[in-house]
Amino acid sequence: MARPVQYNTTIKYQGIPEGYMGEGYMATNLEKVVGLARKNSLWPLPFATSCCGIEFMATMGSHYDLGRFGAERVGFSPRQCDLLMVMGTIAKKMGPVLRQVYLQMAEPRWVMAVGACASSGGIFDSYSVLQGIDQIIPVDVYVPGCPPRPEGILDGILKVQELVHNESLRRRHSDEYKSLLAGYGIE
Ligand code: SF4
Repeated sequence: MARPVQYNTTIKYQGIPEGYMGEGYMATNLEKVVGLARKNSLWPLPFATSCCGIEFMATMGSHYDLGRFGAERVGFSPRQCDLLMVMGTIAKKMGPVLRQVYLQMAEPRWVMAVGACASSGGIFDSYSVLQGIDQIIPVDVYVPGCPPRPEGILDGILKVQELVHNESLRRRHSDEYKSLLAGYGIE
């Protein structure tokens, strides 16, 4: 027997930015509009090397559905993506590859370290494993867990969205940001 169709009547729509509205016009801050657009159109680049990647697959599936956050267009081309999601153990030999992928991404770009391995090396306190990707590239959001559940990954995405939404358009040209990159040897 066919199941009755259920509609979610409690969906919250994205709030429109603050501003002045009248009949046929709206005036607001450009940063707020750009932030709203960027926040809801993240293009993730999954850099998955081990088990945490499987959790990401679940996050992309119909049950958790990352598409609800405007981020279903997963790409494997660094030049088109703006959110690098690093999931899994990163061996030191893999470090230069990860860094190269990061460098190939255009600004503005954000980075999520998903799971204990990407954040800190996790249980692999060994000579061959990078003890956190923030040793080679700057990280915006860390997701804890070994592995993090899909809810944890979604929570990380929401944190990234918050950052993206509130980021000043001038930040990427600021001395502070340039010195952060310089600390990683990136011009
Ligand atoms: S954090 Fe745990 S689940 Fe994730 S890659 Fe490392 S060992 Fe695997």
